[in-house]
Amino acid sequence: MNDFDSDLAAGLLKKEGHEIVKDEESADVILFNTCSVRQHAEDRVFGQLAELKAEKKKRPDLVIGVMGCMVENYKTMFFSDFPHIDLLIGTRSIPELPKAIETVRTERRQVMELAKAGFGYDFYEMPRMEGKFHAYLPIMTGCDKVCSFCIVPYVRGREISRPLREVLDEVRRLADSGVKHVTLLGQNVNSYASKDGGSVGDAALPSLRAGAMASKENHGKFADLLRACGKVPGIEKIGFTTSHPQDAYEELFQAIRDEEKISRRFHLPLQSGSNRILERMKRNHTLAEYQRKIDRMRELIPDIAVTTDIIVGFPGETEKDYKETEKALADIQFDGAFIFKYSSRPHTAAAQWKDDTPMPEKNRRNNELLNLQKEITRKKNQAWAGRTVKVMVEDMSKKSREEVLARTWQEKKVVFKGDGSLIGSIVHVKLQQVFDETYRAEVIPS
Ligand code: SAH
Repeated sequence: MNDFDSDLAAGLLKKEGHEIVKDEESADVILFNTCSVRQHAEDRVFGQLAELKAEKKKRPDLVIGVMGCMVENYKTMFFSDFPHIDLLIGTRSIPELPKAIETVRTERRQVMELAKAGFGYDFYEMPRMEGKFHAYLPIMTGCDKVCSFCIVPYVRGREISRPLREVLDEVRRLADSGVKHVTLLGQNVNSYASKDGGSVGDAALPSLRAGAMASKENHGKFADLLRACGKVPGIEKIGFTTSHPQDAYEELFQAIRDEEKISRRFHLPLQSGSNRILERMKRNHTLAEYQRKIDRMRELIPDIAVTTDIIVGFPGETEKDYKETEKALADIQFDGAFIFKYSSRPHTAAAQWKDDTPMPEKNRRNNELLNLQKEITRKKNQAWAGRTVKVMVEDMSKKSREEVLARTWQEKKVVFKGDGSLIGSIVHVKLQQVFDETYRAEVIPS
């Protein structure tokens, strides 16, 4: 989502005649696109903003701006704590960016644009990058879940889905411009709830607050969208991120099974293996319910790769709770997992509870789970060696100019001999050994 927002901002600025430069010294405008999900990301932004103070003294004409979730989180605090900042652009105000820069430069005053109702922009207003084979496509934004650790609903707002017709028009336009691979984006992408035709705004959505299960009529909506995307000529691969277990349904698994263009990686955050902690997190499912969904998914789609997110050190997490998470990882055998150390976030329910796991203990749990998962990932990856699979070539290899980097439909990395002309194309390869989560492979001539 951040990558998409940065690309959108860059595209809008280019359209206005600005040029993107690589180094700060030659920039007239420096923009930070920010994330508020964890404290660490925010700390880095604060550090870098402080460093720019001296630069601004030297060059008073320099425009310094902050975009994204931290703007919604801290608002005018940025102007009081960092008076050298000129510009604040909220998560749904990116289209205001060029005008806001203009205002700062001509009027020399601070400008702030905070969240608005709606998506913030229409697809047809989006600048299109030429010659790209991959595109991100936000189909919904915001989140109506109330996970007690999570700041997203407070900085990205309530859930809104784009109408199916608009999404499909955009997928067709992307395909016409040469895009072969789209990644559908949403903070909670699988609760996509388009009503066909008219636009879907906050008012049109059923109330999903406070743990109510998503209404039955929405079950098939995301599955329908995936199936429809699969029928767009020119589109070869469809990914999506990120999903909530509550909205992971049979219909969705069936759509993936039936449509071979859909990516075979399903990222489904579990967060904890302890039912007590899951309840305190307000995830609205038990470990057993989650496991049943994974079992069913694997039954329907045997080549699916399942990945997850885990939080260690959530308020009140005991050694016993932690051991249950460890056991869940060992039992479920994910293809990969991101392990996060809990950090208290403003506005959230859990912020009222004591952050009671000391940092060294969070580190231990984090490292132990990382090591456990690394071993599981290694075994899982080894089991694929020797198989012939379809891959999409994404780039040149970073290590060799004679090799390209590709990804399987399970989103595993593969390198093999080839040149730049292959980028964006589909190739069949035989996977050989895997090192550091990247396979070497040999092309199978078609
Ligand atoms: N929409 C996704 C979450 C996106 S944020 C979902 O509902 O699962 C990505 C990951 O960051 C989350 O899955 C969670 O594991 C982690 N995360 C979110 N808030 C956090 C916090 N306060 N401390 C530590 N990790 C957090």
